[in-house]
Amino acid sequence: MDESLITTINKLQDALAPLGGGSTSPIDLPQITVVGSQSSGKSSVLENIVGREFLPRGTGIVTRRPLVLQLINRRPTKHVSNNDLLDLQTHDDKGNKTENNEDEWGEFLHLPGKKFYNFDDIRKEIIKATDSTAGSNAGISPVPINLRIYSPHVLTLTLVDLPGLTKVPVGDQPVDIEKQIRDMILKFISKPNAIILAVNAANQDLANSDGLKLAREVDPEGMRTIGVLTKVDLMDQGTDVIDILAGRVIPLRSGYVPVINRGQKDIENHKTIRAALDDERKFFENHSSYSSKAQYCGTPFLAKKLNNILLSHIRATLPEIKAKIETALKKYQNELSSLGPETVESPSSTVLSVITDFCNDYNGVLDGQTKDISSNELSGGARISFVFHEVFKNGVYALDPFDRIKDADIRTIMYNSSGSAPSLFVGTAAFEVLVKQQIKRFEEPSLRCISLVFDELVRILSQVLAQPEFSRFPALKDRISQVFTLFLREIMIPTNTFVSDIIHSEECYINTAHPDLLKGSEAVAIVNEKIHPRTPAVQVDPKTGKPLKNSASSSASGNTISPNTSGPNAVVAEDDKSGFFSGFFSSRNKKKLAAMEAPPAVLKATGGMSDKEVVETEVIKLLISSYFGIVKRTVADIVPKAIMLKLIQQSRSDIQKVLLEKLYADKNIDSLVKENDFTVARRNECKKMVEVLRNASEIVTSV
Ligand code: GDP
Ligand code: MG
Repeated sequence: MDESLITTINKLQDALAPLGGGSTSPIDLPQITVVGSQSSGKSSVLENIVGREFLPRGTGIVTRRPLVLQLINRRPTKHVSNNDLLDLQTHDDKGNKTENNEDEWGEFLHLPGKKFYNFDDIRKEIIKATDSTAGSNAGISPVPINLRIYSPHVLTLTLVDLPGLTKVPVGDQPVDIEKQIRDMILKFISKPNAIILAVNAANQDLANSDGLKLAREVDPEGMRTIGVLTKVDLMDQGTDVIDILAGRVIPLRSGYVPVINRGQKDIENHKTIRAALDDERKFFENHSSYSSKAQYCGTPFLAKKLNNILLSHIRATLPEIKAKIETALKKYQNELSSLGPETVESPSSTVLSVITDFCNDYNGVLDGQTKDISSNELSGGARISFVFHEVFKNGVYALDPFDRIKDADIRTIMYNSSGSAPSLFVGTAAFEVLVKQQIKRFEEPSLRCISLVFDELVRILSQVLAQPEFSRFPALKDRISQVFTLFLREIMIPTNTFVSDIIHSEECYINTAHPDLLKGSEAVAIVNEKIHPRTPAVQVDPKTGKPLKNSASSSASGNTISPNTSGPNAVVAEDDKSGFFSGFFSSRNKKKLAAMEAPPAVLKATGGMSDKEVVETEVIKLLISSYFGIVKRTVADIVPKAIMLKLIQQSRSDIQKVLLEKLYADKNIDSLVKENDFTVARRNECKKMVEVLRNASEIVTSV
């Protein structure tokens, strides 16, 4: 069971390998990553754990690509003991360096099915694979080499060998080689599921250990870092690593294991690993500092410890890995289905379904179904509502009923509209002329509102088409956009006419019987009251500053012209313009009057206004203001309704028909459903991901 857990992870590792190895895979698998400075003994430790020589050796930077090394115990039913590990001598003695061995072999993921019984060939293949990806100079590459070693003499383990930390670029190495290596290592060890095997030479100061320094960056508590102390045999006489082992130097939760690998000389002398392991055991057993804890020293103990740590780590993380695989699988499956089927069944049915999708989405956005649309801004129907209720309404309400009318003009119009018989009372004719002139002014904001709504509809169109599902057929998308915009422009014409007609109909007939309109008699009363107040203005006591008796009560009864007091529906009258009464009583030019000159070619009503004229002008103004207010409310209410009917609803109900007419019958319908290159590539990518993740999912569910 335990071993099968590691086997599961190994299988997952292979299953997920096509996703570009450790760094880009969405799933972070538990693995042991070896870090340390160059020549600290990383490769030696790995070889000792495997019990075989298979790693490239040499001076300078030899490991230049991550090596994912999966050790698989070939007899999963039988538990491997430390004795078994030492047992490998028989094979080593026989096979030494070149001979084949039936029980042990290596396999590279990039050479499926090929078994390497000769470990020298494995070394050669590693060198070859390194050169092919990282170049034959001293460059590095983050793409891992995946190597599996099957053997009865290994514990099932997954280890990653990484380039050693180096300081000074050598040969034609890039100047930033140190940073490149650091970044690569960090990418591997910063994943929370990485177990860090920090290799340090015991004859060097632990505080300066590059591996530990890096490990502490990503694992400051030392929770997932295991220390290995190599070259214990090279320590000065009388010194040992006991303080480190006891956690008194740099404590690690999983502690340190001291080991002894073969020295350079041993290698040159072809000392077997078996012999080296033997010597290692003897060294610790006989050393005065270590003899009491010899069972916690050396390579076999390290292998067992790593195996245990990896197992418990896998056990702890497997549920999470399972969930992650499922999530990632779902994500890619969804994307894959959103990309549509690989083969376009028939162009016309594809066009039909894209058009249908588009229309549904378009209507959905207008209805406020904001599925993919950002939540931090208003969109679709909400924006149109804003145009109606804020932009348009405010625009209409900002219109001033007297914007382009001067009092003098009012008088002129009054004279003109009453014809040759001087009017006895305010003429409805003058009122109508003036009101009509003002109602015209609603047309401009109303038409502007249509164009704002048009802009919003075009905006919705591009918002809908920007969704990934419409990226598949770029030509079709462009055509939809084109046809739709054109169609909107077409239906904008009758919308404009309709809205203009609404304004014209307001202009055409002034409904003086409108129940909300201020009554003429009311208007006269208000104006008279204003000009000749029956009650004196509030008298203020000069001493107290308080209103005097009598005056206070009458002022409260409201004798000022306040629209609020003239009926619930009366509309606000313009404020008095200061100076309106000035010059009212100015004396006329008596001489001119006496001369009785003929009227000039251009006759203007000039001079101060008579009392009656002032009253009439004021009354007209009040009535205009009241009626203008009524029209204002009508326009603010009905124009959005008209736009809704003629533009928005029309676009909704006809769009599908229009698109089908224009696109379905297109002679070049085949070219419309030509897939975008990105879609093709992305589908392939998604297919690969789905396949890989489905495999992975099967592997984990089988546990
Ligand atoms: P790497 O660069 O970290 O992979 O280091 P290597 O495993 O290639 O070792 C570098 C050198 O140190 C080699 O010459 C090894 O023989 C030597 N070496 C490694 N470990 C030990 C050890 O425990 N004792 C001795 N004496 N030499 C060692
Ligand atoms: Mg190495």
